[in-house]
Amino acid sequence: MLYVITGPSGCGKSTLVKSILGEVENVEFSISYTTRKKRDSEQEGKDYFFVSKAEFGQMIEMDKLAEWAVVHGHYYGTSKREIEKKGSERDLLLDIDIQGAQQIKTKFKKAVFIFIIPSLFQELKTRLKNRGEEAVDVIGRRLEIAKKEIRYYPEFDYIIINDKLDKARKELASIILATRCRLDSRKKEIVPILRSFFENE
Ligand code: ADP
Ligand code: 5GP
Repeated sequence: MLYVITGPSGCGKSTLVKSILGEVENVEFSISYTTRKKRDSEQEGKDYFFVSKAEFGQMIEMDKLAEWAVVHGHYYGTSKREIEKKGSERDLLLDIDIQGAQQIKTKFKKAVFIFIIPSLFQELKTRLKNRGEEAVDVIGRRLEIAKKEIRYYPEFDYIIINDKLDKARKELASIILATRCRLDSRKKEIVPILRSFFENE
């Protein structure tokens, strides 16, 4: 199953996604491609694949991306290969923006869409400042974009208010676990169980 995790910059998407990887089994993170510069805290091939604009352009031309968008002035995209490789056997979490979420919605009808928000706008400001990764003007731009992004919440299946990280993590885990119990997710598992009920008749 694909889980699309979207929300304004600084709301805690990557923190939440990272924490869930150690908590829920069989969950993978989709590593995106980006033309933005690597932050000191990030690792190539773990947080993102950092590429040049030319390389990103080639991926678009060769139709290698399942979705892509320009976000905060940089290109970001999810490769089809990442979804095929990791998403066939396991649950896959995509931390992507609203434009990307909308593209995934047209291609993967069954995907689960989760919107993360902070408790208050002021909290977003504080988190971006405390994260200390972007210049003041970049933070200002991200906050302006956040005001536009927040309006899209009704397009999502679930809303997580990330006020307390522990609570938000439990809610995300609950969404994944409940989705695994849905009738259509259980079909593969239920067949041998049903067979065992009748094989010695
Ligand atoms: P995003 O991936 O959505 O841009 P991050 O995961 O980088 O956001 O989080 C932004 C900052 O907020 C980070 O410094 C992170 O440690 C902090 N943070 C995330 N969730 C919480 C929370 N529930 N309470 C306080 N700080 C948080
Ligand atoms: P950041 O630069 O803070 O890591 O991410 C900025 C924004 O880009 C976030 O909203 C994040 O969800 C989004 N993003 C990250 N990867 C992708 C991707 O592959 N596709 C799209 N459309 N957005 C992405």
